[in-house]
Amino acid sequence: MDTEALIEWIDDKPAPFPLLAVQAVVNSYESEDEEEKLTDPDAARDWLAGYGLASPAMSISDAELDELLAVRENLRALIDANATGEREEAADAELAAVAARHPVPVAVGPAGDVGVDLEPAETVDRLIAQLIGVVMAAQIDGSWQRLKICAADTCRWAFYDSSKNRGGHWCSMEVCGNRVKNRAYRARHAATS
Ligand SMILES: [Zn+2]
Repeated sequence: MDTEALIEWIDDKPAPFPLLAVQAVVNSYESEDEEEKLTDPDAARDWLAGYGLASPAMSISDAELDELLAVRENLRALIDANATGEREEAADAELAAVAARHPVPVAVGPAGDVGVDLEPAETVDRLIAQLIGVVMAAQIDGSWQRLKICAADTCRWAFYDSSKNRGGHWCSMEVCGNRVKNRAYRARHAATS
């Protein structure tokens, strides 16, 4: 994966490598401020390949794109649960089924270090397997809990909360924090006038 390019795109509060890959993929969705990056198979391959998350030769069908989008939704909900603690049984069963179909690829480094094989994926199945492996690694090293979904309804961007008390709610205090506070302020004043 092209770590530098991903950090530049994510701009604020990037997750550490390799969790950055999951943060990027879950932020490829459409929000008020962001366009959908995975609109069709060709666009998806180009976007993923542009950040080294997929090989430029990746084959991807409509059905595979649908599966990737479903996994993305499930991962977004899984991240959301880091802040809310709420997780649906059906979603966990779905994720377990996806994980069972996508064994995590493993690579051994020169120092005998065993980790997720992050070579740019040539298939969607491989990419999904890598994402699941990265989630697993992050849950083990503790970085997973710091990945959160922005609390602003119009944003919902996944950000990495590196604050000491892990109490962050927004991808950006300046943008989303103030947006939410201003809206709450306006709502309060509308209610009293
Ligand atoms: Zn936000």
